[in-house]
Amino acid sequence: MNILEIINKKKLKQELSEQEIDFFVKEYTITKTIPDYQASALLMAIRLNGLNTYETFYLTKAFVKYSEHYDFKKGYEDFSLIDKHSSGGVGDKVTIILGPLLACFNIRTVKISGRGLGHTGGTIDKLDAINVTTNINHQKYLTLANKTKCIIMSQTDQLVPSDKMIYALRDVTSTVDSFGLIAASILAKKFVINSDYIFIDLKVGSGALVTNIKDAIKLAKLMSDVAKLMKRKIEINITNMSQPLGKAIGNLIEINEAFDFLQGKNQAPDLKALIYEFTTEILLQTNTYETRLAAINAIDHVINNNQARDSFLNWIKAQNGNYNEAMFKPKYKYEIKAKKDGYVQFLDAKEVGLIALELGAGRHYKEEKIDFQAGIYLNQQTNDKVHKNEVVATLYSSKPIEEDVIKRFEKNYNINQRKIKLSKPIIKTI
Ligand code: URA
Repeated sequence: MNILEIINKKKLKQELSEQEIDFFVKEYTITKTIPDYQASALLMAIRLNGLNTYETFYLTKAFVKYSEHYDFKKGYEDFSLIDKHSSGGVGDKVTIILGPLLACFNIRTVKISGRGLGHTGGTIDKLDAINVTTNINHQKYLTLANKTKCIIMSQTDQLVPSDKMIYALRDVTSTVDSFGLIAASILAKKFVINSDYIFIDLKVGSGALVTNIKDAIKLAKLMSDVAKLMKRKIEINITNMSQPLGKAIGNLIEINEAFDFLQGKNQAPDLKALIYEFTTEILLQTNTYETRLAAINAIDHVINNNQARDSFLNWIKAQNGNYNEAMFKPKYKYEIKAKKDGYVQFLDAKEVGLIALELGAGRHYKEEKIDFQAGIYLNQQTNDKVHKNEVVATLYSSKPIEEDVIKRFEKNYNINQRKIKLSKPIIKTI
């Protein structure tokens, strides 16, 4: 078998066999005989010509085959083990809030997350910003999972190494938004852990990798078909990403927003709606509470009595992190001020993500170092009322903020005379 023939086949829109997909994964990511430039060519051919359900299944299978498998249930069968994963969006810090929140109810979250992809931020980059170690071995994770009930890992050279390499390459070759690649990448990270419930948060809208509902349903169906072929059950929620989620976009700045949220401070309404919806659903599905009202009251309770905040600090400390809110101290900031009275509307959530990337919060090439101080704070969210000269948003960076970045931001919002119609946080459950 040879990689040139495989690239050529996909270039000609032909279906790849299980052996060809396995060969590519093994030779690029395990034995490393295929160079980046050939892998990039194949990824682009896949991005342009797609993978069908079986090809996506074979890719997922290969990712799982060349990975260690982590068993977090043995000896702890009584605990519910949750794996929640987002397909990625701008300002999406849900995982960082949900894990420590669920831990307050003795529900364990053990999952593998990824770094930033394209204009979407990544949980692992955010955790890196507070020095959290995410590449600990299985035994250590087992001890930690019992102590903190929340563990977030990254892909490593042992744990889904193939996704680790291909994920990083996709990020810098404009091949992120391929349904087959997204599905295999997400699902493989779920299938190497024996969780009880897998919740996929499939984001749709301009800030997500999938921008319209028709495509989101197509991707959801692909993921659920592959999960069936792998004999695993998943639940997929299609959620709204037409606006950045919450107020912070970046790394340290999002950790601060998550920490505030867990203390009941500054809870952005859209973020609150999503967190409460997911948490309630999980509390009901795991029979922790019998009614929605009881679940919601319980969530309020652990936030108000600081249990959720302490759970976050306990988890971060257990994974060697060190965190305090004062770590966010960017050298440069620029305030965008309203030019008139009215209601704010951010136009393109992806553009907000790309501007955060330009400020330093993401990568243009594989080895690029992220500026953890860089980011954006939306002092106002869409439909908030502002007065002339009030601050709409603040841009942060460790480097001077360039005029064209400011101009890009200014072009990307309107001040309207009326509120616009926004869709609800959860659009569809599959
Ligand atoms: N999250 C992942 O883990 N992989 C993707 O490809 C997209 C989002």
